[in-house]
Amino acid sequence: MADRLQKVMAQAGIASRRASEEIITAGRVKVNGQVMKELGYKVEPNDKIEVDGQPIEHSEKKVYYLLYKPRGVVSTAKDEKGRKTVVDLLQDVDERIYPVGRLDYDTTGAIILTNDGDFMNFMTHPKYEVEKTYTAKVKGIPTNDELESLRHGIMLDGKKTKSARTKILNTKKGADKDKTTTLVEITIHEGRNHQVKNMFKAIGHEVVGLRRESYGFLTLDGLSVGEARKLRREEVDAFL
Ligand code: URA
Repeated sequence: MADRLQKVMAQAGIASRRASEEIITAGRVKVNGQVMKELGYKVEPNDKIEVDGQPIEHSEKKVYYLLYKPRGVVSTAKDEKGRKTVVDLLQDVDERIYPVGRLDYDTTGAIILTNDGDFMNFMTHPKYEVEKTYTAKVKGIPTNDELESLRHGIMLDGKKTKSARTKILNTKKGADKDKTTTLVEITIHEGRNHQVKNMFKAIGHEVVGLRRESYGFLTLDGLSVGEARKLRREEVDAFL
């Protein structure tokens, strides 16, 4: 992906963007053997960049973030309807990052963003689908038999879901029966579209609130809604 010369230099640790601009205008930078004084010149990953005759390593640094996604944000990098995206929430990040998998517009909770395509493919590959735990607020009170069917797997779009773990956390009795809701913890190993909502729908309990509490061993601990933190190298490696 083409990027501005001063940004690439800053990412390679040569100097800040501002100072890199000065180095460029001073004629100290060559791209593919030619002095390049143009600020904002777009360099491609294979271009050879030299500063004061020294080649620089400019493959983009891999970055990984865990975001506590708020409600009302799409989990794509761009939205054709112009809605706010999860990437918009990480404004100070220079790298071009993308969400790993999806959370619905109205779902909150843990989502990873990265510019590491291999990591993204690995994490979303059906063979490796990591464990994800959600709390789902559902209408009514699911019976043990209903939850048992989720544990065993149910048919969704002609394909059986893998076994899930479920636990009732609490029930809030409404003034009338229709207003009663139950908070259920559910752990799944897949990432099918609207999977948790569809699983509960299949047993007759509409989901009215959904939060992803954890993605593998990563939890929301220490994050408030809308906040992100960098993953440590050991955390990334622990997935691989
Ligand atoms: N399951 C859903 O139904 N929605 C999500 O956002 C995530 C899992």
